[in-house]
Amino acid sequence: MTEPTFDSIFDDLIDVNEELQSFLAILEALLPEASILLVSEAGTVLDGARPLALVQPVRERLVQEAKAADGFVAGKSDSGARCHAVYLAKLPAVVIISCAAAPEDDWRPGSALTTLLQNTIDLALHRQEREMLVADHEQSVRQINILQQQHGKLIEDNYRQYRLNQDREKEYARKLESEITKQTAELREANVRLEEISQLKSDFLANMSHELRTPMNAIIGFSELLSETPLAEEQLDYTRTISQSAASLLSLINDILDLAKIEAGKLELERLPFDLAEVVDNVAAMFKIPAREKGVVVACKIDNRIPKRIMGDSNRLRQVLINLAGNAMKFTEQGGIDILVDYEREAAGQIVSRFSVRDSGIGIPADRVEAIFEKFTQADGSTTRKYGGTGLGLAICLQLVELMGGRLAVESEVGKGSTFYFVIPLEEAPAEIISLKEHKAAGREKAASGGRILLVEDNAVNQRLASILITREGYEVEVASDGAEALEHLRHQVFDLVFMDVQMPNMDGMEATRKIREIEADPALRQDYVGLRTLKEPLAIVGLTAHARKEDETACYDSGMNGFLTKPIIKAKLAMVLSEMMPRISCLENKDPS
Ligand code: ADP
Repeated sequence: MTEPTFDSIFDDLIDVNEELQSFLAILEALLPEASILLVSEAGTVLDGARPLALVQPVRERLVQEAKAADGFVAGKSDSGARCHAVYLAKLPAVVIISCAAAPEDDWRPGSALTTLLQNTIDLALHRQEREMLVADHEQSVRQINILQQQHGKLIEDNYRQYRLNQDREKEYARKLESEITKQTAELREANVRLEEISQLKSDFLANMSHELRTPMNAIIGFSELLSETPLAEEQLDYTRTISQSAASLLSLINDILDLAKIEAGKLELERLPFDLAEVVDNVAAMFKIPAREKGVVVACKIDNRIPKRIMGDSNRLRQVLINLAGNAMKFTEQGGIDILVDYEREAAGQIVSRFSVRDSGIGIPADRVEAIFEKFTQADGSTTRKYGGTGLGLAICLQLVELMGGRLAVESEVGKGSTFYFVIPLEEAPAEIISLKEHKAAGREKAASGGRILLVEDNAVNQRLASILITREGYEVEVASDGAEALEHLRHQVFDLVFMDVQMPNMDGMEATRKIREIEADPALRQDYVGLRTLKEPLAIVGLTAHARKEDETACYDSGMNGFLTKPIIKAKLAMVLSEMMPRISCLENKDPS
């Protein structure tokens, strides 16, 4: 069944013809002898059950007159009979009636007939109006029903759409969730792969570092030893050249490893108390002799508002200053080099300080200032030929200073000199923290009294070199080739200190250290070890390794070692470690080997 449309409903309502007909039917019933004609406003015949003969002009005239009079007007039919026209504004139409039975007077306005007719017409019109209203009402009811139906359908559609959307949303969320899960898994996998690659890179670095440092250890150590034997002038010169070349090769290896570490994000700064003046003075002292030979004056100055003892990484700060002062030395032929530490301001409990290394050297052209901080880049092509260098130093310093919370920059004028500077916050070391170094220094005289050292090292060349170096420092050395052998030695002998290589066959240095600490902690086990049962303090164990990374150092400490020395063993560093660690002798004063 087709739904009625709005248009069709309204079509029904304006079916004027039907209304006219019903009106006509009423009139016919009322005036049985009358001839009746219904004409439109234009005079056209609309209907006539008992038609009255009227020509068009007469009809038109009657319509106009009836309309103007808004009531009854009289006229003549074509046959001469009297007729009356009434204008029905509501339809709009004109009804023309001729009724021979009614005398002329009856047609006068206000007569019983006209009144009756008028009333009838009104009644008919009212009835029609009422019918129209009823029809309207019915139509409205139908419309309301239709609207209700449509409304219900809309609600239903909306609800269906809503459910559909909900389902779609759920589906979308499900897809999104599974996509996120998938991507998270992929990212996690990629991350694992990256970590593996990064681990491989660090292992490669560690191995490279180990492989390069082991032979360097021998070259540096033995050439140092060789130069101390009786040699002819020429031989001494060659030996020194070997030493110097080996030292610069080692520094290059260190630079490359540092850079790799920085780029892998593996370089971490230490936070230990140190004496700032000591670091700055040491750097200045390093360059004083070569500077004097050139006729250049090296000076250093620290603002007295800067605390003496600082928390931080003294080695990395020293490395930056050595690099900057080294460059200043290299590029300065006359005048002076100043290493300055100036007070800038105090912020958040820290002293913001400016470190500068100022020289009166060749200077740097303005257009090269940015480039020199890039790795492997120098101010101009002739630099390498004339001064050597690799262009790595500043790149490393830049990164180290950034790690310290500052920015390395330079002000320079060609022919006048350069000032490299950086501003970093310095934290004063709390008074209660006393560095290991200072602690050891307190008992340094006792170290001079000598002692017995166990050297645990698998490599024969290194065994020889380290033994000679340690003996020269005034100590007695016993050698063990791996961790297991070291434990055997400790079973029967007493030592003041152990130098423990990390990478060894059978039992490596970390495992051996852990075992020693286990034995120390267990009185029953300790009884079997002469070298451990008499100690009042844990045995001093210094890790000795070509692995120079921070994590290697941390791993050594974690295994229970209390010192760390990287290979190649530099005489000065060995002497320093010995002087720091050997005061432990004091706790062996009453040692009883039995
Ligand atoms: P290297 O000194 O090994 O070449 P650096 O990264 O330390 O590498 O320095 C890069 C370049 O910056 C140097 O080669 C030199 O051209 C320029 N430079 C650095 N310091 C100075 C200085 N104090 N005076 C003049 N030029 C300098």
